[in-house]
Amino acid sequence: MLSIIKPKTVAQAMMELDDERNVNNDVSRTTKPYVVVLDQVGLDIPADKIAVACGAWVTSCLRWEAFREVSASQIPIQGLRVHYLLAKPKVEIPAQAVFAEINGTVYSGEDAIEIYPRPDGSVFVCGEALDDPEMPPHNPFEPVYSKHATSRLKQIVNDVSHALSFDVIQYGLACHLPVHAKGIPVISKVPTTKGLYIAAGHGCWGILNGPATGLAVSELLLDGKSTTLDLTNFRLDRWY
Ligand SMILES: Cc1cc2nc3c(=O)[nH]c(=O)nc-3n(C[C@H](O)[C@H](O)[C@H](O)COP(=O)(O)OP(=O)(O)OC[C@H]3O[C@@H](n4cnc5c(N)ncnc54)[C@H](O)[C@@H]3O)c2cc1C
Repeated sequence: MLSIIKPKTVAQAMMELDDERNVNNDVSRTTKPYVVVLDQVGLDIPADKIAVACGAWVTSCLRWEAFREVSASQIPIQGLRVHYLLAKPKVEIPAQAVFAEINGTVYSGEDAIEIYPRPDGSVFVCGEALDDPEMPPHNPFEPVYSKHATSRLKQIVNDVSHALSFDVIQYGLACHLPVHAKGIPVISKVPTTKGLYIAAGHGCWGILNGPATGLAVSELLLDGKSTTLDLTNFRLDRWY
């Protein structure tokens, strides 16, 4: 199971594999038909092919010139805000992830609480999703958590297990899951714009499915089509 172990560790391991294989990550060597302004970062990156993978923020790209032929209805992707916290339990707990529907605590919602022990002894807990997707704040770095939701999450976990009685809360935050209205991501070339690609809308399984998506998109970029995955059902101009 590749679940929410440590996304940063997974990403770093993949970058190291790139290094081992001498993969060129140097964007300065690309040619220059498009210049995309990543306006939160303030950086211009010259590129001849662009894969946009900005999760729940993907519709904010619609204001970019390169997206002028893409309609909002083709990328009905919004953010579902989910809260999480990371804690150190006082005792060692087994390396088993728990996906739980919990009754008899302060918790009366219907979404599942997920508890993941990590190899470093910390435990990641997530849940308390909002009911409806929303447009995330324009600035992806803006904190979006609710103190009420994270303290409820802590209370739920404390009520469930003494072993999981968290004393040290390292942080309690929230992220936006990129949810597609029909539950199927868009992994596609933009047919109307040369060199433009989108990969977004992986909902709650982007860590699991991200590496395969990345491979498929790299094939699209380099070979013009993916041979690893059949992307027919993920194309931008599908009717559903
Ligand atoms: C609490 C929680 C638990 C989860 N558990 C799991 C799990 O167990 N297993 C699993 O497979 N998945 C899980 N997920 C889902 C997974 O995290 C997402 O599906 C995945 O992160 C989506 O990847 P992405 O790259 O499409 O989008 P994101 O990870 O959201 O990345 C998009 C990035 O684009 C950046 N961005 C946005 N706009 C701009 C801009 N204009 N310029 C530059 N950068 C920009 C954002 O800052 C962000 O870093 C979980 C998510 C949450 C919130």
